[in-house]
Amino acid sequence: MEQTISFCKNTLKKHGFRITPQRITIFCCLVNSEDHPSAEMVYHQVKREFPNISFDTVNRTLHCLTEKGLIKMVESGPGPRRFDAHLKKHYHFRCCNCKKIVDFDCKEYDNIKIPDDIVKKFKVFRQDIVLEGLCSDCISKIKAKNVFRAE
Ligand code: ZN
Ligand code: MN
Repeated sequence: MEQTISFCKNTLKKHGFRITPQRITIFCCLVNSEDHPSAEMVYHQVKREFPNISFDTVNRTLHCLTEKGLIKMVESGPGPRRFDAHLKKHYHFRCCNCKKIVDFDCKEYDNIKIPDDIVKKFKVFRQDIVLEGLCSDCISKIKAKNVFRAE
């Protein structure tokens, strides 16, 4: 935890952010999180430490962090935007039912080439691959429900 805090502090400093305890906590919250929280989710967590913080402050901070490239917005489909502080190349599986977003790695996806005609016409900054479907928890829940119905 100490390590995360000093990492967050240094990264914020390096990117020209004024260091405030609130900012450090917001950034730490994302760095520690595996579940790609929305602004709302970050707000609820940060509020435990700073009961007076407003949703707007949290939301604005998240957008500033995104702008400076410290975190990323995740392709989250309909619904609130979700954020990710893990910048190493990886991909996402999104559950359409419970909205969980799970990280995965895939060597084959790393090697997908951008089509030549796109490269000629545009400048590509980002290439994402998102898989959508049902997570294993949701599949089990649906199966359990169907068994119940059949009785
Ligand atoms: Zn699910
Ligand atoms: Mn991720």
